[in-house]
Amino acid sequence: MARTAVEQDHTRQGGRTPKAVTRAKTGKPDNPGKKTRPSSRTARKGSEALDPAGPAALGLTRADFLPVTRADMDARGWDRCDFVYVCGDAYVDHPSFGMAIICRLLEAHGYRVGVIAQPDWRDPASIAVLGEPRLAFLVSAGNMDSMVNHYSVAKHRRRTDAYTPGGRAGARPDHATVVYGNLIRRTFKSTPIIMGGIEASLRRLAHYDYWQDRLKRSVLLDAGADLIIYGMGERPIIEVADALDAGLPIDQITYIDGTVYRTRSLDDVYDAVVLPSWDELGTDPLVYAKSFNAQYRNMDPFSGKRLVEPYPHDVYVVQNPPAKPLSQAEFDEAYDLPYTRSYHPDYEAEGGVPALKEVKMSLISNRGCFGECSFCALTFHQGRIVQTRSHASLLAEARRIAKDPDFKGYIHDVGGPTANFRQPACKKQLTRGACVNRRCLWPEACRQMNVSHDDYVQLLRELRELPGVKRVFVRSGIRFDYVMADPDPDRTFLRELCAHHVSGQLKVAPEHVSDAVLSVMGKPSRAVYDRFVRAYRDMNHELGLDQYLVPYLMSSHPGSTLKEAVELAEYCRDLGYMPEQVQDFYPTPSTMSTCMYYTGVDPRTMEPVYVPKTAHEKALQRALIQHRKPENYDLVREALTRAGREDLIGFGPKCLIRPTRPHGVKSGKHAGSSGRRGGSPSSTSRKSGRRTEGAARAGGARHEGSGGRSGAHGSETKRGSNAAGRNRAGQGREANRGGHRR
Ligand code: SF4
Repeated sequence: MARTAVEQDHTRQGGRTPKAVTRAKTGKPDNPGKKTRPSSRTARKGSEALDPAGPAALGLTRADFLPVTRADMDARGWDRCDFVYVCGDAYVDHPSFGMAIICRLLEAHGYRVGVIAQPDWRDPASIAVLGEPRLAFLVSAGNMDSMVNHYSVAKHRRRTDAYTPGGRAGARPDHATVVYGNLIRRTFKSTPIIMGGIEASLRRLAHYDYWQDRLKRSVLLDAGADLIIYGMGERPIIEVADALDAGLPIDQITYIDGTVYRTRSLDDVYDAVVLPSWDELGTDPLVYAKSFNAQYRNMDPFSGKRLVEPYPHDVYVVQNPPAKPLSQAEFDEAYDLPYTRSYHPDYEAEGGVPALKEVKMSLISNRGCFGECSFCALTFHQGRIVQTRSHASLLAEARRIAKDPDFKGYIHDVGGPTANFRQPACKKQLTRGACVNRRCLWPEACRQMNVSHDDYVQLLRELRELPGVKRVFVRSGIRFDYVMADPDPDRTFLRELCAHHVSGQLKVAPEHVSDAVLSVMGKPSRAVYDRFVRAYRDMNHELGLDQYLVPYLMSSHPGSTLKEAVELAEYCRDLGYMPEQVQDFYPTPSTMSTCMYYTGVDPRTMEPVYVPKTAHEKALQRALIQHRKPENYDLVREALTRAGREDLIGFGPKCLIRPTRPHGVKSGKHAGSSGRRGGSPSSTSRKSGRRTEGAARAGGARHEGSGGRSGAHGSETKRGSNAAGRNRAGQGREANRGGHRR
């Protein structure tokens, strides 16, 4: 096919469509009416030298990357791609980006893959720049759900996007998978479309959409796509590719674990659980709660059943059981592929892609999580069975990191969804699956659980012995209840964590202190956290270190009334700690907590759960935690009065506020109800886009703002894509990695 003017222009203009180029040049937002602000990097472009750690400095050319233009295809002698991967993120060839893993894996299996990153969704030509693929289009919103990427929990538009060159906002549409699917269909009526990534994965069946405040259908139907690969996609994508390559029509690829398809007949669908129909779901939120519980009980790759969701006009969406966990060799293979570990050269002039910086010096050592926090989307995406990479694979990647010109001797993280999970919770999980009616760590650690940090300790020791490595940090969250359940009398892991892997402060996520809320969250009780705080303090004392704990706290989670919010405020008061920013619960798609938010019940028990929903009540709960801020005075006073806790208004040492408004604060002036505005999710948070700027001395009082001892990272709390996939999301806890996913 001859190149069109658009393609040629696209080639010349650095892989961006003409409109995108114009936008970048003028700095105009691409979404009229939406305010965007060019990042400082973008504003400086042209006046500074190329990125000293960018692809040019690494000696990379566009030939080292997969084709993004017809000219790139011509240079490889390709007349056609087998697959074209359409993605809402910029093209970054690094294994922290799901797109990179899937594309490199397909390449390793002999397929020709082209990439269309962030196409202009208003221009059908942008989707045709590589022509029609021989086998299929692959579509992903990127490492995060596009709505989490675009909006804060208060539904304010973020001003930056770490997954776009220069941190620009507005390079992808809302609900990107659906928009891209329809865009492809306008030009390519019958080419198979296969969707993946966290957005498609967590919206694979009917789901509650917080931003539109309503139930939505499976994105498979709304996008006009043929197949969804959900969860971690390495195994299913190769099975699907091989089936297509063997000549099987896409509508006959209905048998692969980890996929969702549509059909008009259930004659060939065996051994399935039929969920409530779309029509039934619309009658009562409680019907959705029952449906969600059925999905939750069937998400194990060994015991999960096929699910069928009926839609009108004899349409059925069928979810096959989850794909089996990867073996260690398969996991290694996915991470040992020849990634350039850089962004595409087309982005050099814009200063690269900020999200890469977050993860470039970090290692992903595991996936899956048996922690099962209710607000975390990972359970639905990566599953409960922990899979790990081998030491050899991780050490090899660390050596590659050490050769990066940007490497200063510090490995920023060795982790995953939960850093200290380096083995499945128990052996039974690998043959019969995780228990359906029991959780591994809640209400307390299961007695069948095999708790050990030996492998993780050994891995960290080997990494810090590598030439050129000065420090190895652990910045992914650790489960402190798992640490406390470790029978090791010497507390070797905690000792080595404090001695070698903490940079002045350790961030942990008790999330709340009220046992009533913690139980809804699926988090360990306050008593367990208090024991950990003491153990951490004692260990640092023994080591002669002055290091702090920074607790992540969440307000307005289901189950939290003003009474529990006051309890949390009193905890912060006693700790002498006031977080600069507080994370409101963010109802991202397909979490247990989101289901509670929508339905008002715990879907496992159908018992009612209190849900703070209005912006004002959320503001009251948040203000309580930040009761020291003068501008929060009126809100705190109202909250305490409504909670019947006027005893906390006064001059006593336990009082949160004085009886009179602070001097200079006018009546009605307060912090507002919107929470944090703008900003890039991944530039602000671990998991759900939060940034904690204070630090609390382990087990003792410490005033905010005094800072902890800062190590190589100072008080830096930025997390990369691992933050994108849970309530972090998924996102919010934005983005966990790997596979055709988030
Ligand atoms: S036996 Fe215990 S550790 Fe194993 S899956 Fe069941 S709850 Fe988890």
